[in-house]
Amino acid sequence: VPDAESKKLLDATPQSYPDYEVMPEIPGHAKYLLIGGGTASFAAFRAIRASDAKAQVLVVTEEEELPYMRPPLSKELWYSDEPKLVEKMKFKQWNGKERSVYYNPPSFYVEPKELAYQENGGVAVVKGRKVMKLDPQKQVAVLDNGWEIFYDKVLIATGGRPRNIPVFERASQEVRDRVTLFRGIKDFKRLDEVSKNASSIVVVGGGFLGSELTCALGKRSRDSSLKVIQMFPEAGNMGKVLPEYLSQWTTAKVRGEGATVKPETFVKRARYSDGKVILKLNTGEEISTDHVVVAVGLEPNTELAKESGLEVDDTYGGFRVNAELEARSDIWVAGDASSFYDIKLGRRRVEHHDHAVVSGRLAGENMTGAKKPYWHQSMFWSDLGPDVGYEAIGIVDSSLPTVAVFAKATEKDTPRAVVEETGESLRSVTETEASATDEAPAPDVEAAAKLVAEVEAENRVAPTPKEDYGKGVIFYLRDDVIVGVVLWNLFNRMPIARKIIKEGKQHQDLAEVAKLFDLHAD
Ligand code: FAD
Ligand code: NAD
Ligand code: NAD
Repeated sequence: VPDAESKKLLDATPQSYPDYEVMPEIPGHAKYLLIGGGTASFAAFRAIRASDAKAQVLVVTEEEELPYMRPPLSKELWYSDEPKLVEKMKFKQWNGKERSVYYNPPSFYVEPKELAYQENGGVAVVKGRKVMKLDPQKQVAVLDNGWEIFYDKVLIATGGRPRNIPVFERASQEVRDRVTLFRGIKDFKRLDEVSKNASSIVVVGGGFLGSELTCALGKRSRDSSLKVIQMFPEAGNMGKVLPEYLSQWTTAKVRGEGATVKPETFVKRARYSDGKVILKLNTGEEISTDHVVVAVGLEPNTELAKESGLEVDDTYGGFRVNAELEARSDIWVAGDASSFYDIKLGRRRVEHHDHAVVSGRLAGENMTGAKKPYWHQSMFWSDLGPDVGYEAIGIVDSSLPTVAVFAKATEKDTPRAVVEETGESLRSVTETEASATDEAPAPDVEAAAKLVAEVEAENRVAPTPKEDYGKGVIFYLRDDVIVGVVLWNLFNRMPIARKIIKEGKQHQDLAEVAKLFDLHAD
């Protein structure tokens, strides 16, 4: 809130204020304070500005970057052969269209020191600063330099940081200098540089990040002498999500991208020798490599909790919030850092882009007084290059019983084709747009009857490993209720999956349910 002296100056440009030079770089008060400059924060400030047109929103982020999206950092950015594009953090979507990872150009934002003087409000970003503590009673946030910011409403959207494993944490400095924990633009730039000069890179971890980066680096290795080796404890890629047969099939695909994949393998020791990192594996094998990428999951950023008297979820990690995403009065939490109550599936924490968008938006709306519960079921997607990809919703945990139906895929059943058709690489956006314009396709019951149904419920019938899992739908069951759905190389069907999860019914005949997805429609 500008004081009387400042109000007189409102008509002038801030640069002409007599005290411009001595005005504090960071405002002492913000009506809306957003902690973290990621996707959840971005979605929140958009929602705040939509319902409070003159809102002054202050974002404080630890990163030296304006808000940007992370998905292209392990996908499209690696497939561009134009180094200039990558320098500017622009990427070509799978359909060839250029796009920036940044949500808004710098001109969209106002300078933090000028925020209080913007009659029509705006969004300001303080970069490279960490919020250390909140005082929920005094409504003040304390930064890492001791600076204090009073707020009316605050959002915690601190996301998470990559986990490490003890072998690397305990290793010598030389080893640690050759390890990348991958999360942001800084890490992308570093690995991009490393991959141009290294003769070998080891990726540890077989989840989303490890698998996507292995494909990306594998693609790069095909045009160079780079060798890419991926290792993880599971039996196949994305083994915590995909049923084992599909996970193994996926591993064959990743190998086809040019990488060596070592399932059921983990690092026992790491030492440095002669410019190389030597990894001793559980199999007894020793591998010498130039660089290691550790992609073994995420640790939600909740350090703020202890000092601020906020509750952290014992089971899922993250700040515990109510249905309105509020942790305490006037404090909301969204995105990866939020442990929320899902009325259909129970309490959980979700580490995906669409959830960051939807929960960030809802928190923003509630910060302006909407009082809405978080009932939307978010989705996610993962692409292993432009040709294989999937979308998923609900609880997709491979330890649950699954039932799947597959059909033969054509070249239209790829991430590239769906981006070509829709012009959109963020597939959460594709879905929103599709469901706004058309109804779900009518099921073609006859064609579906011809499908080869692969029933794997409680492992009664396991599909043969030779099967070509071109495209299909996989149901994840808990007490015979579908709690999760993977759409494998099958696009534009998310509203159907969402409806099934919402209904939460017990289904006797899942082949019938699969027909709703009309595998032969395109
Ligand atoms: P983040 O994006 O992590 O943002 C949090 C921000 O807060 C960071 O800038 C951090 O520095 C800052 N911060 C933390 N603590 C503080 C503090 N105390 N003070 C100030 N600032 C702080 N999801 C999908 O669904 N599909 C994908 O294809 C996909 N691809 C991905 C690819 C990569 C390489 C990565 C890393 C993630 C991917 N994800 C994907 C996951 C998705 O990006 C995340 O779920 C999403 O970024 C979460 O958003 P967030 O805003 O909660 O947190
Ligand atoms: P303001 O922007 O007019 O600033 C008032 C004074 O606080 C100025 O002398 C300024 O240099 C200093 N200041 C501004 N931001 C600061 C910060 N983050 N840390 C330390 N000093 C800072 O005041 P406002 O923005 O309208 O403030 C709203 C309310 O917050 C007021 O009640 C004010 O007293 C309080 N405030 C407290 C602090 C603090 O650190 N204790 C700082 C700023 C503002
Ligand atoms: P993850 O949770 O998906 O995968 C964790 C993986 O770590 C496991 O599958 C396992 O292979 C490996 N692992 C665990 N402990 C290990 C150990 N001791 N030794 C070797 N390997 C071990 O997390 P991630 O893949 O690291 O991804 C990081 C974050 O980024 C997550 O939040 C993820 O959701 C997000 N992300 C999402 C996408 C997407 O949605 N498409 C893509 C990239 C990243």
